[in-house]
Amino acid sequence: MLKTMKACVLRHPAPIERKPLEYTDVPKPVPAANEVLVRVSACGICRTDLHVIEGELRPRKSPITPGHQVVGVVEAVGAGVKQHRVGDRVGIAWLHSTDGTCEYCRASKENLCDAPSFTGWTVDGGYAEYALGEESFVYPIPDGFDDLKAAPLLCAGIIGFRALRLSAIERGGRLGLYGFGAAAHVAIQVARHWGAEVYACTRDERHQKLALELGAVWAGGTVAEPPKKLDSAIIFAPAGEIVLAALKALRKGGTLALGGIHMSEIPPMDYDLLYGERVVRSVANNTRQDGHDFLKVAAEIPVQISTEIFPLAEANRALNALKNDAIRGAAVLKVS
Ligand SMILES: [Zn+2]
Ligand SMILES: [Zn+2]
Repeated sequence: MLKTMKACVLRHPAPIERKPLEYTDVPKPVPAANEVLVRVSACGICRTDLHVIEGELRPRKSPITPGHQVVGVVEAVGAGVKQHRVGDRVGIAWLHSTDGTCEYCRASKENLCDAPSFTGWTVDGGYAEYALGEESFVYPIPDGFDDLKAAPLLCAGIIGFRALRLSAIERGGRLGLYGFGAAAHVAIQVARHWGAEVYACTRDERHQKLALELGAVWAGGTVAEPPKKLDSAIIFAPAGEIVLAALKALRKGGTLALGGIHMSEIPPMDYDLLYGERVVRSVANNTRQDGHDFLKVAAEIPVQISTEIFPLAEANRALNALKNDAIRGAAVLKVS
């Protein structure tokens, strides 16, 4: 007898205003060798989900269940699973698996793997009552975070952390954060823990207020120029024109990291904006080491997560709110 579960399924990408996710019954997955079956408790919502749903990221599996910040409990394990047991609380993140053999994997750069799979894009994700994880890519969740607060750690947190690393921010340095959603509201706490001074550039006034509450020394509009030159900056908002504003705010030799998987076109710019050995680099996925390192530091600080909770059946509404800057902190689907 085929068992079913509830899931939010995307059949055809469309603007979120048209409610493209269908809350429906689908077959409950069965773990293959080296996989764990997780009974999902919470799934964080990420802007990448919106890019998948609206078709800015080309569909890689259809229909697809999005969601890659999945927290729950292992309910069953496939053959050969050794690292997790039934009953363990775990998280499934964006990097679902890698080939382990390509030149990048062999060079400890598995985030750049030539043949990766991604949760909620190439394989079904956590907008569902159950999800599968590859055992060696599944994270133990630190105590001290309940399921709803832990979910945003898995992408907003980990990718924000990798972006911080790639921004080359140093103790006492000045860091600009462009866009102040789920990732930035975690990254600022890590940056301050590292002794950096944070400047927040974001269009939404409630997000500016949250940044100041979390210890930003200054908050202003997206293209407003911070009062001091920045050593490093990270752009989390998917708008290419911000690259020019951020470069303008960067001192000579500074680094600008682009934290998103998708960005609108970057306008032509005067070479002077880049000259002076400024560096622009993207952030692509993360290694498992980034994930483990971040979860450790997140528990040490401990980072405070602001969440807005939506029921699984209302994923369309939650994503619409995200698109319209109406989420303070991170949006999370409560599944069970
Ligand atoms: Zn690889
Ligand atoms: Zn994400």
